[in-house]
Amino acid sequence: MNFVWRLMRNSLPTKLNLQRRGMNCLALCPRCYQREESDLHLFRDCDFAQRFWFLTSLSLRPEMGNQVSLQAWVEDMLKVLDRDPRGFFCTCLHAIWKARNALVFEYKHIDLAELVELAKKNFVDYGLAISAATLGTTISSRENKGGNSSWLAPPNSLKINTDAALVANKMAGAGAVVRDSDGIILAAATWRIDSSVEPHEVEAQACFLGMQLEKDCCFLDIVLECDNSEVILARKNARVGDNYFGSCIADCFSLISSFRSVSFLHVKRERNRVPHTLANLALTSPNLLGKHS
Ligand SMILES: [Zn+2]
Repeated sequence: MNFVWRLMRNSLPTKLNLQRRGMNCLALCPRCYQREESDLHLFRDCDFAQRFWFLTSLSLRPEMGNQVSLQAWVEDMLKVLDRDPRGFFCTCLHAIWKARNALVFEYKHIDLAELVELAKKNFVDYGLAISAATLGTTISSRENKGGNSSWLAPPNSLKINTDAALVANKMAGAGAVVRDSDGIILAAATWRIDSSVEPHEVEAQACFLGMQLEKDCCFLDIVLECDNSEVILARKNARVGDNYFGSCIADCFSLISSFRSVSFLHVKRERNRVPHTLANLALTSPNLLGKHS
């Protein structure tokens, strides 16, 4: 990411940097007018930045007065965060920069809640771009039969892949990705399920949420893949048990009439990697939604 690289070299045109480069301008922070707009102030110490970090799913309370450089703070954060939150942290830095530029150049005030949403959205788009890039290689390697671990494109319909991730049967995440016959990602989403559930129950919920997503996108012909055989069997046999799992399956059935054609397929776990990543991402970044425009 070019932005992060510039930030780490302290080469972003903050007011203080511009003044240091000899530009005749006021170095005060354009938001609070309390301090000079250094990169540390802009991205971490300004009241706006402080409140923003706390509102994000990272719930950070960066310690102020701790006179490290911004670069040292960012490095520390990248060290302590896991992969997905790390990506989100960078997206948040970028969001602060965008909001700052909107204020300076367009006199447009983006409020905190809006900025948090923007950061989330950008993170999904970024995630989609990454999965699309990964997918690009998968699709091209399909030409030479791709082996057993590639995702297989549907011939004339859209395919949705869903998956779930479970932490100690207490907290669960679900993810879904919709792709067309060229492997282009049309939509992707993450959900967190905060209830005590069994693996097959949360897999069934992931399918339901995925179908709901396709319905919202007005897709008509769909192929649904998931790597849980209990879910696939229950739906193939149209078997709805009198328990929680049964009610999750019944929810899926209730959506079938929203489509022109639906088929359910079982897929090997190795071919279901993108939704697997999304389901894990859901645990830290729930309710992300990305749609191809
Ligand atoms: Zn400020």
